[in-house]
Parts: sequence; structure tokens; C-alpha cells
Amino acid sequence: MSFQIRDNGELWLYTGSSADIVIPDGVASIGESAFKESINLSSVIISNSVTDIGAYAFQECPNLKSINIPDNIENIEEHAFMGCGFTFFEVPYSISVIQKGVFSGCSSLEAVRFHDEIESIMDYAFYSTGIKSVILPNGVRYIGDSCFGACESLESIVIPEGVAHIGASCFKGCTKLKSIVIPEGVTYIGDSCFEGCCSLETVTLPATLKSIGKNAFAYCKSLSSIDIPFSVNSIGTDAFYFCENLTSVNISSAETHIGKDAFFLCNKLKCFTGLDSYFRSMKMCPYCGGTFKGLVTKKCRKCGKPKDY
Ligand SMILES: [Zn+2]
Repeated sequence: MSFQIRDNGELWLYTGSSADIVIPDGVASIGESAFKESINLSSVIISNSVTDIGAYAFQECPNLKSINIPDNIENIEEHAFMGCGFTFFEVPYSISVIQKGVFSGCSSLEAVRFHDEIESIMDYAFYSTGIKSVILPNGVRYIGDSCFGACESLESIVIPEGVAHIGASCFKGCTKLKSIVIPEGVTYIGDSCFEGCCSLETVTLPATLKSIGKNAFAYCKSLSSIDIPFSVNSIGTDAFYFCENLTSVNISSAETHIGKDAFFLCNKLKCFTGLDSYFRSMKMCPYCGGTFKGLVTKKCRKCGKPKDY
């Protein structure tokens, strides 16, 4: 018998090498790392008696293409399916938290069906998956750090109103993501949230936003314009660093604090509002963002105006 089952119904270790397995009726839980690195595993049928899937339970089962998740599953612990090979996953109704790293590294995972019960998506939940488009359900309140980071196939995501927190590096390196609407209610965009989203063309920020983290939109080379709402108190260091095609920036409030190098190497900036004091602090020309030349009388390289401060 290749299933090791404790008296309490926990299947704590699988020692077989079959491609297709059926978890016997009567098993209540699948223990931590029970099927870890079962590289031959191709399909799993989980019996209805199972309510818990432990941490790392199916970690690195790269050939696991098919798995049924019964509706009575109540807990799927962190990293349970990390590095698995399935293409689709339906999150069961009884799950309200998608735990840390559950699907990270599932490079074949293209689509996930969420139900309305989901409230939180924890760190790295979908990191480096093959997911293409996501519509998060309306009940989601929290999106943790690096949740969708390095999802290089992700083209679109709908974030519902009600989300308050979008974590650091949440969409970092999503190189196909074209547009994003940050919904009303969000107050904070985490550090490096959209860093390196090189296809990102349009960004819509809400009137509730207070803070944009460090490097939040750095290296977004397709971004050509950005409107910063009046509500924003601070734009972090390097927030728009090397957005090489950014031509238009509109900062609505004169009170917004702009961090060091926030618009550094945005060399195509032509049209801007609210950036003059930032340019002064960067020792750049307040009229155009150009650099100065000359030893005694300094003049702007770009517009030729003399340095007047
Ligand atoms: Zn100038």
C-alpha cells in the first residue's frame, strides 16, 4: 500500500510512483508534503471525505495535469500546489483565503475560476504562473505581496472596488499587461507594484489614492502619460524611474511630495504640471526637466533658459 494513513484519517505520505491515483474514501486530510515531488503523478481523484490539503502537499508535481477539488474542501494550505502542471483550477466555495504561494510556479496554469467567497489573496499566491486574464470577485479586500508577480502571460486583470491594499511587487514583471484600473477605495500602491510592466500603456488611479510606493512604475517603457490624483500625498523614490516614453505627467496637488529620482531618466517628458519643484530639487531645469551646462552662467541643455535658482 503506497498510502500511509494515520488513525485520524491523515494521509501523511505517498510512497508510490503511479501516474493516476484515487485517494481512498475515508481519508480526511492530505498531510504536509505528502505527495511532494511525485514526478510521475499525472492525475489525482480526491475523495469527498477530504476536507484539508496540507502545506506543500503536491509541491513540484510538474506532470500533475488533472486534479478534482471536491466542494467540501475547507482548507488549502500554503504552497500546496506549487510547481504543478495543471492548466485550470476552480477554487472551491468554502475557501475564503488563497494562501501564500499556493499556485506559485505553476507555469501551465492559464485560468482560475474564483467564487465570490474569496476575501484575501496572500503573498506569492499566483507568482510566476501562466495565467492570462483574471477577474477578481467583488469580495476581495486584500491582495498581498508578489501575488501576480512574474506572470508573463497576464494580459488583463480586473480588480474590484473594495480592495484596500495592493501589496509590494504585486504585478512586477507582468510583461504583457497593457492596462490597469486601480479601483476607488485603494489608498496605497505597494513598492515595485508594476515595475518592469513594459507593455503597460494606460494606468487609471483612483481619487482615494494616498501613496505610490518606491519603484511602483519603474521601467514601464510603454507608459506615455499619467495623471496623479489630488488625494496623493506622496510619490515614492524612483516611482517612475526610466519610463522612457513618458511624455505627460499631471500632478493635481501642489502638496504632493515627490520622492528622489521619481521621474529620473524620463527623458521624453514634454508636458507636465506640478513637477517644477521636483525638477529644482533634482537640480534640473524647472521649465523642461533638462540638465544644465556651463560653469558660471548655467543654461538648460534642452530649452536654453538660464538657471534662475
Ligand atoms: Zn529647460
